[in-house]
Amino acid sequence: MNRYYSLNDFFKKEFGEKIYKVSLDGGFTCPNRDGTLSYEGCIFCSEKGSGDFAGNRFDSIYTQIEDQLKLIENKFPNGKVIAYFQNFTNTYGDVEYLRDIYYKALSHPRVCGIAIATRPDCINDDVLELLDEINKKYFLWVELGLQTINENVAKIINRGYLLSVYEETAKRLSNKNIKFVTHIIIGLPGEDEYDPLKTAIFAQSCGTWGIKIHLLHVLKNTKLEFLYNKNEIKLQKKMEYVKKVVKILRNLSYNIVIHRLTGDGSRENLIGPLWSLNKRDVLNNINKYMKENDFIQGDEFLESGGILDGSNY
Ligand code: SF4
Repeated sequence: MNRYYSLNDFFKKEFGEKIYKVSLDGGFTCPNRDGTLSYEGCIFCSEKGSGDFAGNRFDSIYTQIEDQLKLIENKFPNGKVIAYFQNFTNTYGDVEYLRDIYYKALSHPRVCGIAIATRPDCINDDVLELLDEINKKYFLWVELGLQTINENVAKIINRGYLLSVYEETAKRLSNKNIKFVTHIIIGLPGEDEYDPLKTAIFAQSCGTWGIKIHLLHVLKNTKLEFLYNKNEIKLQKKMEYVKKVVKILRNLSYNIVIHRLTGDGSRENLIGPLWSLNKRDVLNNINKYMKENDFIQGDEFLESGGILDGSNY
């Protein structure tokens, strides 16, 4: 048993083989960028809508899948992939358009399922019905950018929806047995030491199937860069981040699939922290810290009898 339940472990269990993800750009925008909620976006959001490695939005979905497969063909020439709609808000559009691009992705012979990144305030009843329909026939998960349960921090980062909206959407997805992944960011301005942990525990209590942990990194041409240049943002130290990640893992049940444990800023756009560019090193440090202390995912959760609600932090 590995020290935490990684997405790779899940894939091997579910599909019996290694599965890759290919990142696609469905041509969306976001209500937090197009003026519906604001023109500013979340303060950390990059120009490409938090999807710097995705395909070209001007190409068809099928072509993007082919192009992304070419990028990994040396290490992964034949296997199955998840088509991951990553950039901006991938349920923010006419439901017939959504149906068209999701099914186009699913029609590719190497695609074994889809993942859809979105905001919890962008899943209306028609979208939910479509997701339900797909979920009954294909492998699907939805990703929700929660980032924090601290409402003051949510305002500072300009998230643009209340925590209750996440809670309600989590319930609606759970009622349809649709798997969802919750994004959490460690190191947001205004957060207290235990906010990321409490956010993870809250997501777990809302039925999240997976967790994606990011570190706050400053990317070029973001509001965050502006604040950083005014000395209003403090970058985290590597071990400080590692310890917070491990604390979260220890408080999540071993059933929760860990999709990500570190940041994903592109080298050209990243201002800091620069140590995050070496993802292998960050992951090694997380594993080493867990091994040295004999921690595994969920050990604190089990000690608590599985009833943690975050109030003890
Ligand atoms: S919801 Fe996502 S796409 Fe929209 S502004 Fe925030 S990070 Fe960017």
